[in-house]
Amino acid sequence: MKFLILTLLSFTMIGTFVGSIASSIISSSNHLKEHYSAENQYYAEKLAATANLLFKDMFKSLEVAANNTSFKTANASEASLDLNNLLQSTSYFNSTWLVDANGKIVATAPDINFEGRKLSSPGAIEALEKKMPLVSEPYIGATGRFMILVSVPVIDQSGLYAGYLGGTIYLEEYNSLKTVLGQHPLTGNKSYVYVVDSNGTIIYHPNKHFVNRNVQSNVYVQEVMKGKTGSLQGENSEGIDMLAGYAPTAASIGWGIISQTPVNTLMEPTIELVKKSILNMIPFMIFILVFSMIFLTRIVHPIRDLALYAHNISRNKPEQIKKIPAWYFEARELKRAILVTVEHYQARLIEAESESKRDQLTGLYNRRALDKMIEDINQYSLILFDIDYFKSVNDQYGHLMGDQVLRYTAETIMAETKNTDFCFRWGGEEFLILLPETKQEEAYFISERIRETFARTLSPIDKPITISAGVGTLYETSDYFSELLHLTDQALYEAKHSGRNTTIKAKNIPKLK
Ligand code: GH3
Ligand code: MG
Ligand code: MG
Repeated sequence: MKFLILTLLSFTMIGTFVGSIASSIISSSNHLKEHYSAENQYYAEKLAATANLLFKDMFKSLEVAANNTSFKTANASEASLDLNNLLQSTSYFNSTWLVDANGKIVATAPDINFEGRKLSSPGAIEALEKKMPLVSEPYIGATGRFMILVSVPVIDQSGLYAGYLGGTIYLEEYNSLKTVLGQHPLTGNKSYVYVVDSNGTIIYHPNKHFVNRNVQSNVYVQEVMKGKTGSLQGENSEGIDMLAGYAPTAASIGWGIISQTPVNTLMEPTIELVKKSILNMIPFMIFILVFSMIFLTRIVHPIRDLALYAHNISRNKPEQIKKIPAWYFEARELKRAILVTVEHYQARLIEAESESKRDQLTGLYNRRALDKMIEDINQYSLILFDIDYFKSVNDQYGHLMGDQVLRYTAETIMAETKNTDFCFRWGGEEFLILLPETKQEEAYFISERIRETFARTLSPIDKPITISAGVGTLYETSDYFSELLHLTDQALYEAKHSGRNTTIKAKNIPKLK
């Protein structure tokens, strides 16, 4: 029973613990998802705004520089110096170029000796065609690099289009975008930011290998390409479940910024916390279990003791019942009930037992009572007597009066004998007195005294009754009782035949070896 309760307790405890942990994981997971979605979207919006500012600054510094005479006059050597200045002073670009209206390079910084070469890369052609401040689509440049071109038109002194001043950003190398986009505030969760152009091609990614990859199949890339701001949970192009926030930059740049966090890493801190709290819980649980054991023992043991007690009673091996603590009302009541019941039935049993050994009419012992009594006695004498002419008492005074005379006889011999003697009603009007530690002479003396008492005392029929008695003695062992009784009965018979109202000594069993 103890282990049943203990198991129950463990299940309850573990169940509650697991349940509370599970619910806290679920709620923390939901909470974290909401939190990270919001954070990612916020961050994407912030970066989009920062990128807008960055490009605005780039245009401004290019526009200011475009007013340099060296650029307006396409003076190659001076332009080279100014391009270098521009490169150093802004640190936005990986290289700066001056290109004339025909698309021929006038100068570059750093100097790559491309002067006079005509550019045919898509970014260069786009800038020449559009003749306006422009962020090109990403393209592979003449040097084989994946890049974008930020350019402003150069107007010569006569106000005519003279080409463009451009700054490049090498997308696969260290660049100014990285300083802005590279630091993600949620790095603890492997969050990161990447940027796609209007075609869904990655132009910035913390992992260089992803640059120039097209990810337009991605749900949130599609959203941001439509110019939308928001957050979504979905798989990225590699099939990893992501929480992504996205925001587009200004239409003139045409990019989408995506800040995302892998869903599986989201729960890592929570799982760490759960692991720790389980470890912390273990000693506490053991402590609770040990205490429960102790308390259970105190609750269960008294009941078990009672059960054992009851069990032993039923097998007739009653033991001392153990003490039950004062606070344990139920067990104490149970014990009381058991004890009361046991006492009741024991009393009844004793009563029934003694009743079965008593004669109903006189209250003296009957024959059944004898066996037990002689077991423990070695030396004793018997007086066996019979009322003389009792039949005539019945005949003359009636049966009821006969009974009364029998009771009177019993009272008389009880009064005439010691407490240590045993008086039996042996048959109808035949009585036996067992006198332990009494020799024959003494027994004879007692028998005579009793006989004389009867002979001179008025009985219920207003005159004395007489008795005839035999007296026998056993010196050694109670095993010879029936022989002794037989001999004593013979003596009684003799007494009757010798004229009644007398005592005759029996022939005694010879002393044993
Ligand atoms: P004896 O001197 O030879 O013993 O003569 P007796 O009449 O006493 O002998 P008997 O054995 O012939 O009679 C015994 C009578 O005792 C017979 C019976 O009705 C009567 N008796 C036996 N038990 C009871 C009893 O419980 N109550 C009454 N009233 N009479 C009893
Ligand atoms: Mg008789
Ligand atoms: Mg008689």
